[in-house]
Amino acid sequence: MTYKGHFLMGAGTSVAMFTVGYLLNANGIPYTLFVSVPFVMLGSILPDIDNENSRISHRLPTISKTIRSVTTHRGITHWIDWGILFIAMGIGISLLGGLFGLYGMWIFVGLGLGHLTHLLGDSMTRAGIPKGILFRWLNRRKRLWLFPYSMKTLSLTTGFKPSIAEWLYAALWTGAWALLATMVMVYG
Ligand SMILES: [Zn+2]
Repeated sequence: MTYKGHFLMGAGTSVAMFTVGYLLNANGIPYTLFVSVPFVMLGSILPDIDNENSRISHRLPTISKTIRSVTTHRGITHWIDWGILFIAMGIGISLLGGLFGLYGMWIFVGLGLGHLTHLLGDSMTRAGIPKGILFRWLNRRKRLWLFPYSMKTLSLTTGFKPSIAEWLYAALWTGAWALLATMVMVYG
């Protein structure tokens, strides 16, 4: 999936976070969750730092070069384990309590959800994503795909420009969250 597809999907996850923030605020928990939004966006483009031609690599060339010296594209930075670890760290930090705990939690949860959103996008491609450590047991193949193996034609082919199918999948993700958010604001 290209940068644009990942960015659009990250925006969808941010909308989902906004909705949760809105609901929490209605229940007396202040809008601290909104601090997560830039970290959702960061998490949703960060894994491609392992690709020399990605936008994030152009921004952070030294970090990208270091990471590329230890992994191939869609290797270790695309492990699901990272997203889960970030979310677990967020929950851990929240136990410290106070505003530090609250903001720290949303920063790490945002980063984790952004990362998982990136992997959701890449799992729609033919190349799939690596299984990482926690999901090693999941299937007999080396990688993971969102669509069943028998329905491979639904998968995206990777290119420099987003295909129509990529726009469609990303828009479905973001549109679904936007629709839910609208319903919550109107009826909630
Ligand atoms: Zn990627």
